[in-house]
Amino acid sequence: MKKIIFLFALLISTLTMSAQQNSEKPYTYKQYGNTYMVSIKNHTDLAESIMTFCKDMNITAGSITGIGAINEATLRCYDPKSKKYDDKTFKEQMEVANLTGNVSEMNGETYIHLHCVLGKTDYTALAGHLLSARLNGAGEIVITTFDSPMERYHDEETGLNMYKF
Ligand code: FE
Repeated sequence: MKKIIFLFALLISTLTMSAQQNSEKPYTYKQYGNTYMVSIKNHTDLAESIMTFCKDMNITAGSITGIGAINEATLRCYDPKSKKYDDKTFKEQMEVANLTGNVSEMNGETYIHLHCVLGKTDYTALAGHLLSARLNGAGEIVITTFDSPMERYHDEETGLNMYKF
């Protein structure tokens, strides 16, 4: 009898721990074959949450698309002459009209590359390389995984991290 009570207590504590872990994650998801439908939790950082998801799922190669709503975003634009980025933060409610990107690896680390088009409330749009964005509404992301890793290296000529094929 004692053994049964012990096993029951162990089961309850395991279930509680796993529920706590899931509630701490910045996303929920459902898998459809090699594709994940990911719902990012409100008020989290969109780019960071996608990175966390890819790391948790050990995704080393894939494509990313998405839509959602945010109230702050930092975009960047690359200057090929200076080989430097110009970053700019926009603090207003915007629709993520399109998020497009990919996941790969660089030096053994997960590498996310995201671009986006953001729709403002006056129906004009901003676009650029997405560095970070605070979700304020839904964040619906589709990640399709590839069956072998995709690696990058730093290219001195362009100053960019290119695919190593
Ligand atoms: Fe980019």
